[in-house]
Amino acid sequence: MLESVLIANRGEIACRIIRTAKRLGMRTIAVYSEADADSLFVQMADEAHLIGPPPARESYLRIDKIIDVAKRTKAASIHPGYGFLSERAEFAEACAENGIVFVGPPASAIKAMGLKDAAKALVQQAGVPVVPGYHGSKQDPDFLRQKAYEIGYPVLIKAVAGGGGKGMRRVDKAADFDAALESAQREAQNAFGDPRVLVEKYILSPRHIEIQVFADGHGNVVHLFERDCSLQRRHQKVIEEAPAPGMTPEMRQVMGQAAVEAARAVGYVSAGTVEFIADGREGLRPDRFYFMEMNTRLQVEHPVTEAITGLDLVELQFRVAAGEALPFSQEDLAIDGHAVEARLYAEDPEKEFLPSTGKLWALEFPEGEGIRIDTGVETGAEVTPYYDPMIAKVIAHGETREEALDKLAEALGQTIVAGPKTNAAFLKKLCEAEGFRAGQFDTGFIDRNIDSLGVGPQPLDHIAVCIGAENLLDRARFLLQNAVFGRSDEPRSPWSLLDGFQLLGTRMAGLPLLVDGERVEAREVFSRMSPTISAVTVSDGEPWRDTSDPDRYAEREIEVPHGVYIIRNGRQTLVQLYDPFDVDLEHMDEGGTVKAPMHGKLIAVFVQPGDRVEKGQRLAIVEAMKMEHVLVAPSDAEVAEIAAEPGAQVAEGARLIVFKTEE
Ligand code: ADP
Ligand code: ADP
Ligand code: MG
Repeated sequence: MLESVLIANRGEIACRIIRTAKRLGMRTIAVYSEADADSLFVQMADEAHLIGPPPARESYLRIDKIIDVAKRTKAASIHPGYGFLSERAEFAEACAENGIVFVGPPASAIKAMGLKDAAKALVQQAGVPVVPGYHGSKQDPDFLRQKAYEIGYPVLIKAVAGGGGKGMRRVDKAADFDAALESAQREAQNAFGDPRVLVEKYILSPRHIEIQVFADGHGNVVHLFERDCSLQRRHQKVIEEAPAPGMTPEMRQVMGQAAVEAARAVGYVSAGTVEFIADGREGLRPDRFYFMEMNTRLQVEHPVTEAITGLDLVELQFRVAAGEALPFSQEDLAIDGHAVEARLYAEDPEKEFLPSTGKLWALEFPEGEGIRIDTGVETGAEVTPYYDPMIAKVIAHGETREEALDKLAEALGQTIVAGPKTNAAFLKKLCEAEGFRAGQFDTGFIDRNIDSLGVGPQPLDHIAVCIGAENLLDRARFLLQNAVFGRSDEPRSPWSLLDGFQLLGTRMAGLPLLVDGERVEAREVFSRMSPTISAVTVSDGEPWRDTSDPDRYAEREIEVPHGVYIIRNGRQTLVQLYDPFDVDLEHMDEGGTVKAPMHGKLIAVFVQPGDRVEKGQRLAIVEAMKMEHVLVAPSDAEVAEIAAEPGAQVAEGARLIVFKTEE
């Protein structure tokens, strides 16, 4: 076995690789950026080396720095994980030049599959079906529009250098083509430094079904069955499972063979995934699937394949990299049960899935038979704006699909996260969604069912507010008693002393709160008859609720210095006392400006001082963690000032555009 490995990655995948490497007796070497100094993977590794500032291009994407650490530490091999440098042929080459084993495919295979257009042409020659379309080199808009017409709408414009769902636009009619092309090219240039695109037929009722392949250096190539990754948002996977619902042995055989041929066509070695799009209008059929691309690396969703095959893919990668032959042939492999993975993200489904950064005040996962959690963070860690916002992968394995989905839904319900918002409740609803459970879904499933999945603004959780307010009052009482009264047994809250008033024998005290950053007026109520019993009520048009509500429960109350997080039904509510003297909070209600919705990079501003804008007009684009967010005008107004330069990094809440205030 290889003596040691340097992991050129971070987060959960670095932890996952270190775990297997240690089991195999290898020395593990981490490299990290300044943002990750206290990370779990840095603590887990036998040694760790700082390689630069937080932005990936100054650290995790610096081939020179990583190779330098590898040489200094005499690393026998480098594992690139996924993302970052994993699919950069120059990196594999740099390893080879320095006598370091690259735990992955040969540089030539990475190159051959690196661009989607060339990859399609290549596998087509090997007899693999590809999506009909234009994947030539001409990029003239008139020409591409003509091609789109010939292919027939709807079409999909794709960045040839694309990845992570970027630089991709579905176009339904000719009139929309030019604008879609321009934005796809801009996004591709920004993300990959290459604006070139291809145009292909948009497959209707598309199912994303991919085949895990594995090849050794002795000419053996096998497939480890399929994964269905059709539950997607913005062309990015949300839930993945294996095997694919509705898959027949015949189709599996044909797809598996096509994937093996694609791998052979590029002299593949190590773990790889061949992604296909299947036309699912009449169920899965062996003559209706098409090659999309090959990912020449370990995939995010590899744990579902590990669950149903009982294999450790990272171990196999190390063995193959060390020159061993695959210890099995295709006939030895069989599927055991069903596995499903959900990607838990720090994002807010109630606010258009905006990434949500900050400290993880609490992070707890359930344990159980058939439950696997792959994470790179723990309580107290920070979700920073610099990298992918994935907090963990939650994987469930059962004998049947039903059982696996039940287990996953339950595990998501028991997952506690306080601090950044997460998609946990959304994922749980997905696992329980009827059509998905019935196996009737395609890549449009999430968009079509968005309203029933708890996405978009949800009503205030009154009970959470009441519980939170009560918690804050208890804490304030305790502090006040100790600080002011010594050992007072005053049962009432300090607010009753400040501005209580009387109403029909009941005393009410206004209780100014901030709930998830918004002002909420609550009232503390206590009866004159029994001054020791107080309750909190909230009213914003909803019926009055109070802390004696029979529904009153919280899975968890997490006290933090700035307030309290109430976790109920997988939803998090932050309750704070409103402090009118806190300047930052004052700012939150300020009108007349457009602020950055999160930490990110301001990539474009479409207006200038003096411009009149209409409500809903596009003003600017902020990019953060893989996604572009368009900022629109909140109302008709005149632009007074552009407060940030395009290209600049902006902090969450930073003023970007200021409007003239009208008298
Ligand atoms: P997969 O099919 O495995 O999900 P993707 O192409 O979506 O593959 O990306 C693989 C992983 O690489 C992502 O889940 C993410 O962690 C990482 N990744 C992709 N793009 C970026 C990016 N721009 N910045 C940081 N990480 C990225
Ligand atoms: P990326 O490199 O970003 O992963 P892919 O080519 O793998 O790009 O496509 C990402 C997703 O976009 C697929 O999983 C699928 O949902 C959708 N998609 C890609 N090509 C097509 C197509 N021709 N028709 C319909 N959907 C497609
Ligand atoms: Mg893909």
